[in-house]
Amino acid sequence: MEGNNNLREKIDEAKRLLPLPQLMEKEGLGDRMKKTARCPFHDDEHPSFSVFQGADGCWRWKCFTGCGEGDEIMFLRKLKAISLTEAMSIYLGMAGFPTVAPRKPHEYPQSPKFPSSPETLKCHESHMSPVFLVYPMSNGQELEKALKASAARNACKQHGGEKKALWQLARDVKAIQKKAGRKLSNGEMMVIFDEWHRLSRPFLDARENREDYLAGFLAKPGKVRIPTGERDTINKALERVSKLAVSELPVIPGIPDAPEKLRRVAALHCELSRLCSGNGYFLSCRDTAKALPGFTHQAADNVNRALAQLDVIEIVRVGDARPNGKASKYRYLLP
Ligand SMILES: [Zn+2]
Repeated sequence: MEGNNNLREKIDEAKRLLPLPQLMEKEGLGDRMKKTARCPFHDDEHPSFSVFQGADGCWRWKCFTGCGEGDEIMFLRKLKAISLTEAMSIYLGMAGFPTVAPRKPHEYPQSPKFPSSPETLKCHESHMSPVFLVYPMSNGQELEKALKASAARNACKQHGGEKKALWQLARDVKAIQKKAGRKLSNGEMMVIFDEWHRLSRPFLDARENREDYLAGFLAKPGKVRIPTGERDTINKALERVSKLAVSELPVIPGIPDAPEKLRRVAALHCELSRLCSGNGYFLSCRDTAKALPGFTHQAADNVNRALAQLDVIEIVRVGDARPNGKASKYRYLLP
């Protein structure tokens, strides 16, 4: 879609207008703008943070003790503990782009306008969905509000819907934990569950008691690979890949006439890798199957394995093909 290319162009332009050094300066971290500096993201006694310019002219940062690495957007995301989508919008705003087309309106602020100064950002955040209300989620009241809002949003609203609802709730828990930068306490897990159970009760299976649901809920966050909000990344990649002409798909080394199926799935991996700043990324075979019409998840699983055999991707960790099973972790190997 045109909007997608548009966004990419905007980001490229924003990186020219507000490269990482200036961004760090703006955020009061100009002193960390060195080849070797103390990391702004963790309590760093020995300098383990580095800012550098790649051969492509793009700026990158990296923390060698594991806080991560990436570009300007990833920097903001990490610094403010926000989603990639939010970081992108804020970054574009800071670089002087007034508007960003929202991709998923219900996960986005109502107002598409983004202010260019951090002071005015605050009032816009209040338009965000309840999960994102909790920025920076420093006080317990805000966290509790976010937990209850998530419980309400994911309450079971029809008979037979409890499994799906609990799964969504667990994905929210993951997103909230990520934002808060810590695991939820047992007490906080109970706040979200109690509220969910209270609101879902009319639709729950009468044969199961509260304890069964509680155990089901507590077992889930450990299985979640894609927290709420990060779905955006996969949808974005799928959308972009579906618009690519055959001539734009990656060429499989040594197999110039490789089937389109293989090349389109390779394009999906390429795009996910790009969106995740060259890091590993998670992808289920069910999501892989969405890259082509009429593609089954079994066939998609085979294509992923074939691409690994062909050294197009590396399977970092094997997932689980069952519905809601863990997605596999991959790394894209082509340049
Ligand atoms: Zn660090």
